[in-house]
Amino acid sequence: MKSPYSFSFFQPTFFSGLLDDPLLVIGIKPLNTSILVDCGQIDHIAKRTLKSVDAVFITHTHMDHFIGMDSFIRNNIVSNRTIRIYGPESIARRLHSKIMAYNWNLVEEYFCDFEVYEISDHSIRNFCLKGSEQFSFTEKETIKRTSFTVYENDHYLAEAAVCDHKIPVLIFKFTEKPSFHVDDKKISAMGFKTGPWLEQLKKWFYKKQSPGQLDIRLETDDSEVLTFDNPIQLYDLIKNESRCLSIGYVTDVGFTQSNIKTILDLMEKTTLFLCECTFLKSHKQKARESFHLCTSDLNTLSSAIRPGFLLPMHLSKTYLNNSGSFYEELVLPFGSTLIKLPERIKNTPLLPKDIIMNNF
Ligand SMILES: [Zn+2]
Repeated sequence: MKSPYSFSFFQPTFFSGLLDDPLLVIGIKPLNTSILVDCGQIDHIAKRTLKSVDAVFITHTHMDHFIGMDSFIRNNIVSNRTIRIYGPESIARRLHSKIMAYNWNLVEEYFCDFEVYEISDHSIRNFCLKGSEQFSFTEKETIKRTSFTVYENDHYLAEAAVCDHKIPVLIFKFTEKPSFHVDDKKISAMGFKTGPWLEQLKKWFYKKQSPGQLDIRLETDDSEVLTFDNPIQLYDLIKNESRCLSIGYVTDVGFTQSNIKTILDLMEKTTLFLCECTFLKSHKQKARESFHLCTSDLNTLSSAIRPGFLLPMHLSKTYLNNSGSFYEELVLPFGSTLIKLPERIKNTPLLPKDIIMNNF
């Protein structure tokens, strides 16, 4: 039995613990691919996970959110894939500068391409860095934005909005597209006998191919056949009305009226809400000065959003060994579940004295 919040397609893993530089991996199960959201502490992530990534969503290019891009490039550069990068204005030049910082006299037969999308309030600028042309920088087109949407395929929708962190910072929401889900009670209430027509309907749903004529036998009289020519009409009669589950990601935003409005507009009905919370409420002034959030700010946001699950993250490292008081200050909205993180999930950094050097 699936819980009401089981994702159909998403498999999210937050790899940073509470204190390390943020990085979220969302596996897209039916596609066998993943997306990365922010690119902070990355070195402990398996190469095969990084190689499954076909899109990276960067909130902003402060070092703690973009430093892992070098390792990401190292793990993916020798491939014949196209990797999409979404970020705020000027990210294309910044990515290009990272790549250009290395020498490219290697003898590989191919390198990957990067398609870069710079998202601002009213437009998306598209650039290409082509591996086969020594990552030459080409601007392709500018697309006008009329909604939050920045990308979609058959399985999910990616949305973004611009907030203020003294520089533009993106917030993201990923929403699963509806999966084929019929309600057995509705089928029996209609008197329909299950049969090959259900498989035909499923193929129509996912492959968008016309199923032709759908013949349904009735439970009460096997000899009687109902024929449907219109799959939409049939699916509407028997579909399970479940809401589409989503993952929201907010980090490094000032607690300003304009940011609060943008966050609440985009994060409405978010299932899993990952939100930065850098400071305890006693350090609210520091949060205000640096355009970050403190615990009382997160309480205000989460009480309005009422997510199914709340995952606070990106706590300042000055609170090392003090995360207990951080969690004590959080007030959870009714019906929400708190996901607590360990302070670190990778090994603690080493000091020289931690290394045993047998040969000396
Ligand atoms: Zn920042």
